[in-house]
Amino acid sequence: MQMMIGGTGTDSLDGTSMEVKNPATGELVDRVPSGSSEDVNLAVEAAEAAFDSWKRKTARERGMIFFRAAGIVRDRHRDIARLLTTEQGKPLKESIDEVRGFAGILEFYAGISAYQTGELSRLGQAGDCLITREPLGVCGAIIPWNMPVIIMGWKVGPALLAGNTLVLKPASSTPLANLTLAGILEESGLPPGVLNVVTGKGETVGEALVRHPLVRKISFTGNTETGGKIRALAAHHLKELTLELGGSDPMIVMDDAHIDKAVEGAVRGRFYNAGQTCTAVKRLYVHEKVAGTFVRKLKARIDAMNVGNGLGPKTDMGPLNSGVQRERIARLVGETHENSDGTVLAGGCPLTGKAYEAGFFYRPTLVSDVSGRSRLLTEEVFGPVLPVMTVPDLDAAIREANATRFGLGASVWTTNIHTVRNVFDNVHAGIIWVNRHLTVPPEIPFGGVSESGIGRENGSHALEQYSRTKTLFLGW
Ligand code: NDP
Repeated sequence: MQMMIGGTGTDSLDGTSMEVKNPATGELVDRVPSGSSEDVNLAVEAAEAAFDSWKRKTARERGMIFFRAAGIVRDRHRDIARLLTTEQGKPLKESIDEVRGFAGILEFYAGISAYQTGELSRLGQAGDCLITREPLGVCGAIIPWNMPVIIMGWKVGPALLAGNTLVLKPASSTPLANLTLAGILEESGLPPGVLNVVTGKGETVGEALVRHPLVRKISFTGNTETGGKIRALAAHHLKELTLELGGSDPMIVMDDAHIDKAVEGAVRGRFYNAGQTCTAVKRLYVHEKVAGTFVRKLKARIDAMNVGNGLGPKTDMGPLNSGVQRERIARLVGETHENSDGTVLAGGCPLTGKAYEAGFFYRPTLVSDVSGRSRLLTEEVFGPVLPVMTVPDLDAAIREANATRFGLGASVWTTNIHTVRNVFDNVHAGIIWVNRHLTVPPEIPFGGVSESGIGRENGSHALEQYSRTKTLFLGW
């Protein structure tokens, strides 16, 4: 596939390309251009040239393009989902959810486009003030490989609806669905240059985008360390930033919880997308009164999971996205043995056998009795490993939940409204779920506290992150 600059499919200026491989089979899926800073310059120039006329369109005109694109995405969702599974690894049903979710995000922003109005402040003798919002200009979006389609929607939807133009850099291992969706937006009437996609490595294309003086804002999702690097680089031109970074979400199960629902919540919360989700359940705290039953049921459920190629009809969990990710996970689980810190109750090793040897498969893993020092608790563990700890009461659970440098999401499983209030008031996170985990519909703001990031994506709140106020003061 080619990248997209100024509405045209192009190769990189130096003619180099890179492979996109299927993480389940190791087979080549396609090649994409390996862009350089020169390609980024061209894309930013195309975005800058398109900005003036795009910002003059009404929000409703922009929204109509989103409606058309969402319709096409829904019509073609099966093909796009297959492509996503082939490059990313996740089960087809998860890819279908994700692609439909992308259409839903476009529909949400199209739906609120008619409500993009300003404010009037009447100040008596002093005059009247009309407060409007204007777009920032050319924005840059850097996308990770774990949920490339949804995260593209979270950035493209508000950035373009607010009247900005965009240069998007997909992750190197998952550029194909992103390019396909950009093509559909173009086909739906998006003017050339409004959305440009430059494929290539993070250290070259990503950094060139962050450094470019004409780029007014960077929206990045990914690793906390990479986010810190981007923040430092972006400081040179005082760029605006949205950083959606790592998470280590706690899930608290109280003794009054519906145990079977909580078990299902933990399985979905941790093993969806093979655990490669920023808001996955990464630490599980269970009240000691129900811990025995809960862990027994959870282990049985995990042992019964089908792991395999995401295109298989019975697959519950696909491979990890890369060998690097699988090695990271294997190393972390290995430390439980080396340091005698934790007991592996389920999984704990890669899958073996002919069907698995070329892919990056790892068994869904349950570990108990880890100490607070374990890297399974202190780091963002981006894979199918669930540490479960027992707590004597809610205060202890809240204390443990907050013992982290991250603060993206958290969930509590209970039937007691006072427990809900206590967790909501005292757990540090951007979102608290009750009897649920992971779900982020387009309507709600999403983002973290502490080292989980800066700013909010999604929902109408995201529009504020892609625009600034401009005031007309009328002195009569
Ligand atoms: P990164 O944060 O490095 O990658 C995310 C995106 O940033 C990719 O598009 C990448 O490009 C790009 N990028 C990488 N380096 C730079 C840079 N210096 N300047 C600009 N852009 C850059 O994550 P990794 O893929 O290395 O994953 C490592 C860990 O990060 C995971 O194990 C997980 O813990 C965490 N992670 C968290 C995510 C989340 O949603 N919270 C998402 C992804 C990762 P390229 O693909 O070319 O390297």
